[in-house]
Amino acid sequence: MVIALDGPAASGKGTLARLISDHYGFAHLDTGTLYRGVAWVVLNENGDPSDAEIAAGAAKAFEIEKIENADIRTKEVGAAASVVAANSGVRAALLEFQRRFAVTPPRGAPGAVLDGRDIGTVVCPDATVKFFVTASPQIRAHRRWLELVESRPDLKESDIYQDLLERDARDAAREDAPMQAAADAELLDTTHLSIDAAFAAARRVIDGVFRHCG
Ligand code: C5P
Repeated sequence: MVIALDGPAASGKGTLARLISDHYGFAHLDTGTLYRGVAWVVLNENGDPSDAEIAAGAAKAFEIEKIENADIRTKEVGAAASVVAANSGVRAALLEFQRRFAVTPPRGAPGAVLDGRDIGTVVCPDATVKFFVTASPQIRAHRRWLELVESRPDLKESDIYQDLLERDARDAAREDAPMQAAADAELLDTTHLSIDAAFAAARRVIDGVFRHCG
């Protein structure tokens, strides 16, 4: 059983993926962590994220242990992540790990939940259930601001809004595995939904498919 959640930054897909994986006892992979991790390694070594060779080299040598204590959630790392993510060498290097996780989830879990931008389209095109999670850019910027404001009180919501628009545009426009809804994905717009309501809606879809699968 593989559940794929794709969508733009701060749409709620990460929180939903965690709730779904806890509820069904599935393993969860936040695939953005991999791209953020590669970007963090490049920045940490004073490299240029847009340098194709440097970024692809960092992705090939990437190990999740390298970023255990790294602060990869900053907006700077997020922006650099979407730059390295447009690099086909980087995407190819990270693909195998993601597919292996989906097919053989860790600790013998009976299924996997992966969230990202291209899970339903490229990483797991045969996923059991696919969601494309969206929300208005204004509400996404507000949510991200709430997440970051405690550690970065200087951050302005308007700057986060601008960053999100730039990142979405880069993620949607790239040639390799652009962010897009799979043709068979359930659209889940969380603009006016609480996380509980969004989770309930996702569960209804998943339970329906699971019943159908027997
Ligand atoms: O989801 P998150 O905001 O952590 O992702 C950071 C960046 O990583 C995204 O903006 C996107 O460019 C990239 N990414 C991707 N494909 C994925 C997951 C993330 O290109 N499956």
